[in-house]
Amino acid sequence: MRKKTNTQPFKEKLLDLRARLRGDVSAMADATLKRTRSESSGDLSSMPIHMADIGSDNFEQEFTLSLMENDEGTLELIEGALERIESDTYGSCTECNGRIPKTRLNAIPYTPHCIKCATESQRR
Ligand SMILES: [Zn+2]
Repeated sequence: MRKKTNTQPFKEKLLDLRARLRGDVSAMADATLKRTRSESSGDLSSMPIHMADIGSDNFEQEFTLSLMENDEGTLELIEGALERIESDTYGSCTECNGRIPKTRLNAIPYTPHCIKCATESQRR
C-alpha cells in the first residue's frame, strides 16, 4: 500500500512563506525571533497542529533566516512546489523521481530535490 503524502500542511506553509516573501522580509525576521523567544518558555498547546508537527522552534527559525538570504530564488522554488502540489507530484525529487523524506520537506517545504541530488548539485 503506497502511503500518500498529505500535502495540505505543506501547501499552507508554502502559501504563508510566499505571502511573507512578497511582503516585508524584515518584519518577518522580527516576528520569528520574538515568537521563538516567547514560546521557549514552554507553552506549545496554543500552536496549531501542523506547526507542532514541524519540530523545534530553533530549526524553524534557522530555516526562516536562511531563507531570507536569497528570496528571489526561493520565491521561484515556492511557486514550483505549489505547482507540484496541484499536479500531485509534490514530495518527489524532480531530478531522480525519488521520494523526498518528510523531515526534509518540513525543513525546506519548497525543495525540488532529495538530499542526494541536492548534495550532488552543490558539488557541481
Ligand atoms: Zn533525487
